[in-house]
Amino acid sequence: MASGWPGGDDYGALLRDAAERAVGYLGGIDERPVRVSPEDIARLSVLETPLPEHPAAPATILAELDRLGSPATTATTGSRFFGYVIGGTLPATVAATWLAAAWDQEGGIATLCPVNATLEEVCRRWLLELLGLPPQSGAAFVTGATMANFSALAAARHAILAKAGWDVEADGLFGAPPVSVIIGAEAHISLIKALGLLGFGRQRVVRVPTDRQGRMRADALPKIDGPTLVCLQAGNVNGGAFDPAGEICQAAHEAGAWVHVDGAFGLWAAAAPERAYLMAGFAAADSWATDAHKWLNVPYDSGIAFVRDAGALTGAMAAVAPYLHATAMREPDQFTPEISRRARGVEVWAALRSLGRDGLADLIERNCRQAARFAEGLTAAGYEILNEVALNQVVVSFGTAEETRRIIAAIQAEGTCWCGSTVWQGRTAMRISVSSWATTDEDVERSLETMVRVAREELG
Ligand SMILES: *Cc1c(COP(=O)(O)O)cnc(C)c1O
Repeated sequence: MASGWPGGDDYGALLRDAAERAVGYLGGIDERPVRVSPEDIARLSVLETPLPEHPAAPATILAELDRLGSPATTATTGSRFFGYVIGGTLPATVAATWLAAAWDQEGGIATLCPVNATLEEVCRRWLLELLGLPPQSGAAFVTGATMANFSALAAARHAILAKAGWDVEADGLFGAPPVSVIIGAEAHISLIKALGLLGFGRQRVVRVPTDRQGRMRADALPKIDGPTLVCLQAGNVNGGAFDPAGEICQAAHEAGAWVHVDGAFGLWAAAAPERAYLMAGFAAADSWATDAHKWLNVPYDSGIAFVRDAGALTGAMAAVAPYLHATAMREPDQFTPEISRRARGVEVWAALRSLGRDGLADLIERNCRQAARFAEGLTAAGYEILNEVALNQVVVSFGTAEETRRIIAAIQAEGTCWCGSTVWQGRTAMRISVSSWATTDEDVERSLETMVRVAREELG
């Protein structure tokens, strides 16, 4: 290692040690149980020490973290994790993130980090093309879909109130013309949280009834009158269903409303030719939120907001200070709630560059086919699939609520794979989400076999 490094030769050795340990972790990921063991959780108590009085050697710290921390993780980056809607990490994105961590860049300021400004702009363009959204839309690279929803809805608030003659950034919400907010009865909690943060109120929203798949019922849409925000969903967090966007967008736009789409994972259907039909009508909306750390398989934390009228996004987010100098480049901090932040464009770019259009389409399509295979195998074994499996989500009941809960716990404890529980439309169920590049068809067969065997054992 070249001398003159901050920290000297030891720094290089330390980074190589970290790389070795990471390689060891990833190399064993598919041999270990997917769940965390109670013993490994208990061992974390070793970390509960008094505040250290003196410095410690980085190599010692790393060894301690690896010894205690690595086992106390769920193998979400392995190939048989199907809980929540999570996704793994593409190799190129992990490697790119390590390099970017070494750069230690303030990704929000183009003058300091021109590479992030460039990559965000490239990704904005690529993503809008892949997802079939209007090419001039603005984009905010944030921590996840919660903040993507927040950012897009802040843009909506800006534009809706500007149209009503009110400057919300300057004058706040007190005394502003009221804005009606319409959401589906099965809107994701993060959307409701974002509405609360923006002063729209978590409870003052109007909830439109949904059908048996959790889709907003277009025929139940209330009459829209005055400043209004309508929030659609592309990809129900349980069953993966899409709201009828065509009909609702048209009705909303005729009444002058803003339409926002929460598409944390569902938006990616647009990138796979055989699934793109699910996204029909959504491109007519005004803003969209999605995650990169779910189906695009980049490391945490990464989500993106797109806003058709880029000026509404910068109108909500722009901040000026005498020490922030505009350049000819994209200024990443003018689009997001944060000023200082990671260079998030790096791993999004690495993912898209490594997959290409074909690779992304293949990832989405393969995961959807694998979900269908889970549904087929579980149906054949006599269990009830509660959702129409059109995307990557499967919701399955093994019998009564108590039986289903017991079987989910037994499947988790067995360790071959991991799925979580949910209650959907009054039914307790297991939710399978297939969203990792690493999942092979063999992983699906092995997991399916395990689920059926464990369920039969539990039901006696
Ligand atoms: C996961 C999810 C979110 C929240 O995303 P975070 O990345 O956890 O902030 C929002 N909406 C839907 C439909 C989701 O699946």
